[in-house]
Amino acid sequence: MLRCREVSKLVSESLDRRIPLRTRLQVWLHLAMCRLCWGFARQLRLLRRAAHDHPERLLPDGFDPATKLSPQARERIQAALEQQSD
Ligand SMILES: [Zn+2]
Repeated sequence: MLRCREVSKLVSESLDRRIPLRTRLQVWLHLAMCRLCWGFARQLRLLRRAAHDHPERLLPDGFDPATKLSPQARERIQAALEQQSD
């Protein structure tokens, strides 16, 4: 049987890539018997759904999605450009 550490890693990986059926079955078996890992998997799914539904809440204040730059980065670039033009 898989250990909790392996299951938590596999649960996390399974959000980004498809894991083999045999491994998935081992994970499901573990989750059915381990309350801690089941809770971890549930929390991970909730976080993923929240991030998907409200991506703007994950961005820092003032972050410009169009340029993908923070206000600080924009200021640094602006200052560097002004310095070069002097
Ligand atoms: Zn476990």
